[in-house]
Amino acid sequence: MSSETMTAQLANDTVNRRGLLLVLSSPSGAGKTTLTRLLREQEPSLTLSVSVTTRPKRSSEVHGVHYRFISIDEFTEMRDRGDLLEWAEVHGNFYGSPRREIDKALAGGQDILFDIDYQGAMQVREKAASDVVSIFILPPSIPELKNRLERRAEDSADVIARRLSAAKIEIDRWRDYDYVLVNDDLERTFGRLRAILVAERLRRDRQTGLPDFVQGLLNDL
Ligand code: 5GP
Repeated sequence: MSSETMTAQLANDTVNRRGLLLVLSSPSGAGKTTLTRLLREQEPSLTLSVSVTTRPKRSSEVHGVHYRFISIDEFTEMRDRGDLLEWAEVHGNFYGSPRREIDKALAGGQDILFDIDYQGAMQVREKAASDVVSIFILPPSIPELKNRLERRAEDSADVIARRLSAAKIEIDRWRDYDYVLVNDDLERTFGRLRAILVAERLRRDRQTGLPDFVQGLLNDL
């Protein structure tokens, strides 16, 4: 391939690149769902890993878009068949990332976005260490975290209380992540999130097309 063709490919970001697994975690109410939505709008090439869960569906959620809502029996069957890349019990419900969609996206060289808790983040990292980029999102303060959970008004007081007490354990896991963002301003946090994605995509070892490209440059010298 000539260096001109390679240059055109680089400009289109179509030079061979290994897909990355972008893992976002945060305590409930830190703004992760909004950030995930923004990221998917601005980065259509990012495939969201749609989890399965045994949690009841919220009124705003759509089956197959936000989650696949399944029974405990179905979950147990999937888990025991090895159909889940990772799974965890979070706030009394089961959640898991189906392996099939992830394998399909990675085989197609696509990046995958995971909105999962720290237990899942650690399992994904164990299985695909060099391809994982993990980001933890913190709320600016606990009163703000409470506010956001209450404003959502989709969970009962009981569920909110349970999520707040779980936040303590989750926040304490911040050291397990590659990046930490304090979400005090949605726009700024989103800009930083995108910057991480852009930089990680450009890591030398992820650009598998580079050796040929550089060889083409050297040959033309
Ligand atoms: P929610 O019930 O508010 O949608 O999610 C509760 C928590 O479960 C969030 O921290 C979310 O990131 C996490 N979660 C969602 N899907 C998965 C999954 O497939 N695996 C794991 N480990 N955690 C998940």
